Amino acid sequence: MELVNLKDATDTVSFAQAVKKGLGKHQGLYFPTAIPKLTDVESLLAKPFVERSIEILHTLIGDELGAGVLDEIVEQAFNFAAPVEKVTDDIYTLELFHGPTLAFKDFGGRFMAQVLARISAGQPITILTATSGDTGAAVAQAFHGISNINVVILFPKGKISPLQEKLFSTLGGNIHTVAIEADFDACQSLVKQAFDDPDVRDGLHLNSANSINISRLLAQVCYYFEALSQIPVAEREQLVVSVPSGNFGNLTAGMIAKAMGLPIKRFIAATNLNDTVPRYLKTGEWDPKATVATISNAMDVSQPNNWPRIEALIEQGYIDKACLRGESVDEQYTQIAMRQLAQAGYTSEPHAAIAFRSLSHGLEEGEKGLFLGTAHPAKFRETVENVLGQPISLPRELAAVATEDSLAVDLEPSYEALKAHMLALLQTQS
Ligand SMILES: *Cc1c(COP(=O)(O)O)cnc(C)c1O
Repeated sequence: MELVNLKDATDTVSFAQAVKKGLGKHQGLYFPTAIPKLTDVESLLAKPFVERSIEILHTLIGDELGAGVLDEIVEQAFNFAAPVEKVTDDIYTLELFHGPTLAFKDFGGRFMAQVLARISAGQPITILTATSGDTGAAVAQAFHGISNINVVILFPKGKISPLQEKLFSTLGGNIHTVAIEADFDACQSLVKQAFDDPDVRDGLHLNSANSINISRLLAQVCYYFEALSQIPVAEREQLVVSVPSGNFGNLTAGMIAKAMGLPIKRFIAATNLNDTVPRYLKTGEWDPKATVATISNAMDVSQPNNWPRIEALIEQGYIDKACLRGESVDEQYTQIAMRQLAQAGYTSEPHAAIAFRSLSHGLEEGEKGLFLGTAHPAKFRETVENVLGQPISLPRELAAVATEDSLAVDLEPSYEALKAHMLALLQTQS
């Protein structure tokens, strides 16, 4: 597989290089130089999830990782299901929250961890990531126990839900968590400083594992095929897919699936009040506003960093512009949608409810809808209980960590403090 930097056409890399580097020169995103078309999608859809996913990823990535390696990676990474549930007569949901940290980020995180473990060939690597909730848990769980890779997760102390924190701070071993006494932006800025500091970047072989890493997106392509495989054949060509979007990685993956030949009719980019993309699709003006906090906090992003990849898919002719519409849903309608879903017998959470709302009043004659369920409702327990007025129970993964102690170390928001902490912790190991 060859990828090209969207900001510099002379910067081309292999898949393994793109995974190791993350971003290219001038902070450019890597994008496939060509997206291959699958020849027989129908027979592919008839295959089981893991076998089909190996074929899809093999078509994209090629033989680069060596014989049988990709098969092993997919078998280990995708060891949980992605079921489609019927919600109303015309609308389905794809549940992406049956992995170890109960959010769709498990697919990309686990795939990336398995790829990195193999391509690094035993050399020590340090993953440094700041999290506002779901990414930290997915990354920590995915890398836990991989011997040559240490993970350092920074989070804003007291500003993420206690259950979200427990999902990564109780692991121990090669997972090191640091509670920063500041907000998420401060954590992110500490990460950037570390990547600018050669002592730490080169000394500890840093990698960020964030959502711009191409390996995470390619993994996500597979579950769009899984969704279609569970939809009745007669309805597949009329399917509208609504994606609750923040950084737009999930939607990018869906569009790559369509470019490869998956018969999705069109997409809805569903956002909360952080509506840069829906406004852009209507007016043609890219005009990000200050980020506002909402109950769908994983989508509180006003400058989505995957957007250049979606533009590339459209500009390079893989996706017709008419196949993408945007919808922004405010706080009140998010809650109304959650209650409508509950009345239909389906307990959901704010992110998926936004995608449902965008579909339920946007379907045309003959169309069927599918919205992505990006997280388990228990991850947003307080909001869900408040809006629906009834208690919800904790799934086994959350119940298990709820009573364990956090192993996080407290640190002031100073780069010198973080650097000293990381060097003391990791230098002896690398
Ligand atoms: C990360 C996240 C999103 C946003 O996904 P993007 O790929 O960044 O658009 C939506 N919902 C939940 C629950 C998330 O954790």
